[in-house]
Amino acid sequence: DFISGIYNYCDRWCERCPFTTRCMNFALGREEFPDDASRDVRNAEFWEGISGMLQATIELLYEMAEERGIDLDAVDTTAIMAEEERQREVAQAHPCAAASKAYADSVDNWFAAAGDLFRQKGEALATALRLNLTDVDPGAETNRLSDAVAVIRWHQFQIHVRLMRALQGRHDEENLADVLEGFPKDSDGSAKVALIGIDRSIAAWGKLLRDFPSRETETLEILVHLDRLRRVVEREFPEARAFVRPGFDFLDAWGWARGRGGSGSANGCPSPHSPTADLPKPATRGYNPTCSGG
Ligand code: SF4
Repeated sequence: DFISGIYNYCDRWCERCPFTTRCMNFALGREEFPDDASRDVRNAEFWEGISGMLQATIELLYEMAEERGIDLDAVDTTAIMAEEERQREVAQAHPCAAASKAYADSVDNWFAAAGDLFRQKGEALATALRLNLTDVDPGAETNRLSDAVAVIRWHQFQIHVRLMRALQGRHDEENLADVLEGFPKDSDGSAKVALIGIDRSIAAWGKLLRDFPSRETETLEILVHLDRLRRVVEREFPEARAFVRPGFDFLDAWGWARGRGGSGSANGCPSPHSPTADLPKPATRGYNPTCSGG
């Protein structure tokens, strides 16, 4: 019972996804590569198989083209590639792309400079555990911190990648405006996935802001940068928040949105397994900074 196209607008974090049982992409991966060892072997077999198929297909194509008098060189690939390159450059120069790339770099810089902070934090939590301090739960605290770091690292580059897809896609959509009239736009879907990554990263940085006061200024700079990026993306893609992602933002027959908080405790949303996670929510197009699902 797969949800069609659910994997097109997710964050590809299958380990944390509440929809693995409804995702064909996940199921195919499981079926083909049930464990790491088989995945390596099957990967090698897979690419060998593809290589063989490519050779056979090219030969067939040449034969058929010759039979039918088709000139395979007639397509002006140079012009197409030049246009794609131009679009990529235009997208890269866009403030959203530049800001999201700068964000990814600033994350690396923050963690590089954080150095001993995590070790010191670990020691403090170990001490709390040894002294049996009742006001601290070292296990839960460690999980919360590692969740926050995992969320930041997962979305660090994805935000930029998704925004590039949104910016480049928007250009194509403008050229095909007549054909695509009335259909949801892929650029809005990609921008929404980027926005969700930004929302979750903001929530996760909040945890680091509280836990590492000595890095308050640097952390605050990142938060301000992310918040500005969020606003710019929302201005550039005003319909992105309203884009309905298959599965994650499914509207049922009664018009109730059934989106879920997908990244667990780091964003403060109910986890997929919490008693409230499956409660239907009223359909809304409003901004919900952390519980976007997917
Ligand atoms: S929908 Fe979920 S299971 Fe499927 S590819 Fe995306 S994150 Fe992975």
